[in-house]
Amino acid sequence: MPVLVFDLDDTLYPELNYVHSGFRAVAAFLSPLLAVPAETLAAGMVAEEAVLGRGQVFDNVLRQHGRWSKALVAACLRAYRQHRPTLALFADAERCLTRFAEWPLYLVTDGHKEVQARKVAALPLAGRVRHAYLTNRYGRHRAKPDPHVFELICRREDMGAAEVIYVGDNVRKDFVGIKPLGFRTVRILRGNYAHLTADAAHEADRSIHTLDELTTEFVAALLAS
Ligand SMILES: [Mg+2]
Repeated sequence: MPVLVFDLDDTLYPELNYVHSGFRAVAAFLSPLLAVPAETLAAGMVAEEAVLGRGQVFDNVLRQHGRWSKALVAACLRAYRQHRPTLALFADAERCLTRFAEWPLYLVTDGHKEVQARKVAALPLAGRVRHAYLTNRYGRHRAKPDPHVFELICRREDMGAAEVIYVGDNVRKDFVGIKPLGFRTVRILRGNYAHLTADAAHEADRSIHTLDELTTEFVAALLAS
């Protein structure tokens, strides 16, 4: 049976879920310090992220309350990174993992290894994927587009690259490193990269809008192409 490998953030669950979950953890930490209800703080952070992005959210909430310090910003970042997130799979991801339950399934994800491990633990993935490869565990240089962990999957399954399909959303790094080795690639058009156009080297073999499009027929056609 072919091997299906999935990216995590914005492929199987919406990454913004994680961000908002982290904001709630930071709000709970700051609430007694700032004497402001946690819900108010969290709502402010969510609103600011929507406009300005994640970069300055903790600086700004502390500044607004006259409590900015480098140490408190660092404490917010720790609360964010160390919190146990509440996450849910995309509905189509849930259906996809169920549809291919008998197949060898894997995850490959970049990012802070403990953060990524907590995301994996928070999602209903145990017993459904054979292994979640956190590239960070193998060193930063093994992050995508490096193909190292994909080669580990081939070895583990005793499969050639042409029998392994990677599904991801980030056209900047998800496909360019593994395509030359013969891996098959599928781009899911959602998240921050959905509207990026890519050159042929970076673009996936196929693009889909939902994981519902990933059927056994779709996979067979992709492998035969
Ligand atoms: Mg992603």
